Formats: sequence, structure tokens, C-alpha cells
Amino acid sequence: MRFVDEYRSEPEARKFVDAIHGVVTKPWSLMEICGGQTHTLIKSGIDRLLPEQVTLVHGPGCPVCVTPLEQIERALAIARRPEVIFTSFGDMLRVPGTSADLLSVKSQGGDVRIVYSPLDAVKLAEQNPNRQVVFFAVGFETTAPANAMSVWTAHRQGLENFSILCSHVLVPPAMEAILSAPHNQVQGFMAAGHVCAVMGYWQYGPIADKYEIPIVVTGFEPLDLLQGCYMTLKALEEGRSGVENQYTRSVTYEGNRPAQRLLRQVFEPCDRAWRGIGSIPESGYRLRSEYATYDAETRFDVGDIEAAESEECIAGEILQGLRKPHECSAFGSKCTPENPLGAPMVSSEGACAAYYHYGRVKVS
Ligand code: SF4
Repeated sequence: MRFVDEYRSEPEARKFVDAIHGVVTKPWSLMEICGGQTHTLIKSGIDRLLPEQVTLVHGPGCPVCVTPLEQIERALAIARRPEVIFTSFGDMLRVPGTSADLLSVKSQGGDVRIVYSPLDAVKLAEQNPNRQVVFFAVGFETTAPANAMSVWTAHRQGLENFSILCSHVLVPPAMEAILSAPHNQVQGFMAAGHVCAVMGYWQYGPIADKYEIPIVVTGFEPLDLLQGCYMTLKALEEGRSGVENQYTRSVTYEGNRPAQRLLRQVFEPCDRAWRGIGSIPESGYRLRSEYATYDAETRFDVGDIEAAESEECIAGEILQGLRKPHECSAFGSKCTPENPLGAPMVSSEGACAAYYHYGRVKVS
């Protein structure tokens, strides 16, 4: 299959594995940012092919995992309202709040619907002028342009019954938060290729310079990740910092300028709470004042919700690369994909789900 098999070739993979073993002389700790990359690494067994000195830690790049509990509670409060059609991507439906999830609100009669694009939610608003349609806008810079487009489209059409519950998060401030933490263990990053396809990688140079680390923009197929590992490890062994681009077939330095313009038109940066991590300055988007009427939090007055995280779930430490999923005492026992205690076990990009599905068993 064109553009898939090329990136899964076993002989090519073997060459990269050999090259990595040839270049590594000391212990290194690398973080892949994106949960999709985590799943490929674990599913294809790349973590087991690397030299023992190389530790892969998993980053905060799962949008479902980092959406804070308070925001889940706001979503539940809005979805329970009889006048609301609450729309979301499927992953969010089973993310646990303190006592319920969106799926259970649906089973109790709430009008919760899965959509495949935020523009589908705009269409629903057109088709249901007597209902309020809300879209749960989660995700990183990758999904933000489509969500910005939904708000821009609703505004252009004069739709007064569409709004978004805005929970966008941004990658570079999260990388800085990880690198500046006193307990940081990350020595090199494999940056998420799809985020960079939108934003380019001009934002990453100052981070690489400030913290003197290599950052390699990396794709999602097994060979992408092996090459990304090799490039990061080679830079570390040679004492080089800076940004390199493994994912040249999709990513340019500038990124997608029209998408970035749309983002600037609709959103502005704001401080954002990350689930299990806490507030990170300037790490999210909120709607600009011109589009404030499309903000579901103010439309439905659900701003002041507080919620306590499960004391057993160590998702925050996992998302900062400090611990691995199987080090959680609930992994595979109290917490499974069928009965998740935390979002990383239920999300298709969650690190706990990857370890569970691909057989990284609990270490006794
Ligand atoms: S295994 Fe479950 S409880 Fe433990 S960190 Fe992962 S999601 Fe949280």
C-alpha cells in the first residue's frame, strides 16, 4: 500500500535499530509528545528493540487525557440540560468525571451525539433552530483550526444556537513546563508531526536553545519513530541541541500559514489547567472577545465548578514522563478500559491504554 508499507518495512526498521545500537554509548531519556506516537511505539515493540540505556517516556500529547476534570464536569452539566444537543468526538464519552461520564448522561436521556467534525455540529445547529448545539472543543494545535472554522462559520451564518466548550491546549508551553520542572528527566524530544504540520517548527528553536536539548519533529509510522529516535540520540551523543525535522513529507518550518491566521483570528492564548498537571501559563486557547458569544461556559453559566482528582490515578506523573503506566497500583486491576479510573486508560491515545492493549504487564 503506497505511503503505508514504505514506513513499516522490517528490513529498513532493522537498519535503524542497528544504527541506534551503534550510536548509543550512555543512558538517555527521550520523550515522544503525542499519544498516537506512544501507541505506535508500544504496538510495534520499538521500546523493546532499543538499547537498555535508552528510556522512552510518554508525553502529555493525548487531548482526552489532559482535559481537566472540571471541564468534564462542565460538559456533563451542559449535556444534562434539556434544550441542549451536546456533541463530541467519541473518545470523550467514556472519560470519567467525578460521578458520571457523557455516555451515562446519554443513557439517562441526555441528547449526547458523536460527530466526526465540528462542522457537523454547526450543521446540527442549522437543522435544529429551537435547540442549543454545543461542541466539546478539545485538542492540540492539530484540531484547533477545524474548531476555529466551526465558530467562524457559525458567526458568518448568524447562528445563535451554536457554541463550543473550549478546552484547547498548546504543545510548546507544556514542553517548557516539563523541562523547567526540578524533577525533569527528559533529555530530548520527539515532537508531534501533525501539530508541526499546522504550526511549523519555528516555535521550537527558542526552547531547544534555552534548555540545550535536541528536538526532532517526528511522524507516526514505525520507521518515522525509529528515525526520530536515531536522530535525537545521535544529537545527544554528539552534544548538539537544536531542532531537526524527520517528518519532511508533511512538515515545513513555517507550517500552514492560513490555518495559523484563522487560529489568531478566532482564538487568543490563555492560561490553561491540564488534568493531573495543573495550570500552565499561556498553554491554551480561548475565544477572542469578538467570538465570546460562542463560548458555552458563559452561555450556560458553568464557570465555577471544582472537582477532586482520584487519589489513586497517577496520570499527571505519567503525562510528565515521571512514571510509566504499569507503575500505577490500579493498572489492570481497579483500572481497565472497561472500568477506567482515569482518562489515559480510556482514550485511544492514552499511554495506559497502550500498555494495557499491547501487553506491557504489571511489574511485580
Ligand atoms: S492505570 Fe488508570 S488509574 Fe492508573 S494512571 Fe492510568 S488511568 Fe490513572
